[in-house]
Amino acid sequence: MYPFCGPCTAGSEAWRAAETAGPMGSRFYGHRNVCENCGSSVRTLYNTVLWVPVSKVGRFRIIPTGGRMYVGRKVVDQPVPAVVRREPASAIVNHPELDGAPAYKQAEAYWEESEPGQALPFYQSALAEREKVLAADDPATLRVRLRVAQGLLATANYGRAIAWFELVTPQLVEVFGPHHELTRAATEAMTGARLMVGGPRSEAQLLADIVAADEFVDDDAQLLRDRAALGKALLACGDIAEAVEALTQVVRDAPPGHPDTAIYRKALVEACGLVEARGKKRDVQLAETARGLLSGVDAPTST
Ligand SMILES: [Zn+2]
Repeated sequence: MYPFCGPCTAGSEAWRAAETAGPMGSRFYGHRNVCENCGSSVRTLYNTVLWVPVSKVGRFRIIPTGGRMYVGRKVVDQPVPAVVRREPASAIVNHPELDGAPAYKQAEAYWEESEPGQALPFYQSALAEREKVLAADDPATLRVRLRVAQGLLATANYGRAIAWFELVTPQLVEVFGPHHELTRAATEAMTGARLMVGGPRSEAQLLADIVAADEFVDDDAQLLRDRAALGKALLACGDIAEAVEALTQVVRDAPPGHPDTAIYRKALVEACGLVEARGKKRDVQLAETARGLLSGVDAPTST
């Protein structure tokens, strides 16, 4: 995973730092195991309060990229145990026509030929077919969702790719487990997309433009997904109030009981926790509105 060399990539996993400002923050200490190939070194990250380290976050392989900027990967301490985890069961056994559908077969053929861009439109129509009969988090749906995200990345649609990876990665973790090859492929690809975009601020700007464009397209699921990713990018920028606003709107518009909605609600809960910890008066009101929505107290009524 550029700019890390092969061995350093193998001994670490994708990781994204949250940018924090103010008295609550984090700081790297130490400088060990410098790699001769890629120049990265292992540093230990601590949470700090008033610039005093208070708790250890973990060890990271870091390459400085100028000033206070860096790229980092989390060091995997023990080799990942070969957990025997059964492949999850899919309802596709009751729908054999899905694997035989022309769009899906064409998509797979292009993918085999290493043509993810050519495969993309066929995976997109195969996904639409699957989501009509299978759950959004069915293993057979998730496999195609991941391919759509990878196809978007391969065709330089970085914002929409990031939005898909944000949605699909927690679903892959839940269904296949954190160490499954599909889950690892998703986290690596998401890191790659972020490197291309160049930081949370550019990511938030890109996603804001995409959400604005989505408003003119009749695709509710796409709008929700992109806006949720915008919320998470704003969170990474430290724009916590704006993040809560975006995620509140997503949860308000998302269809109840849908597997994707569960992911969006989780993101809103996380953002609420951060906004409450910061404790500004305007923010606390935003969090109260969001908590009301999450608990159903604030559910829209038609009277
Ligand atoms: Zn290296």
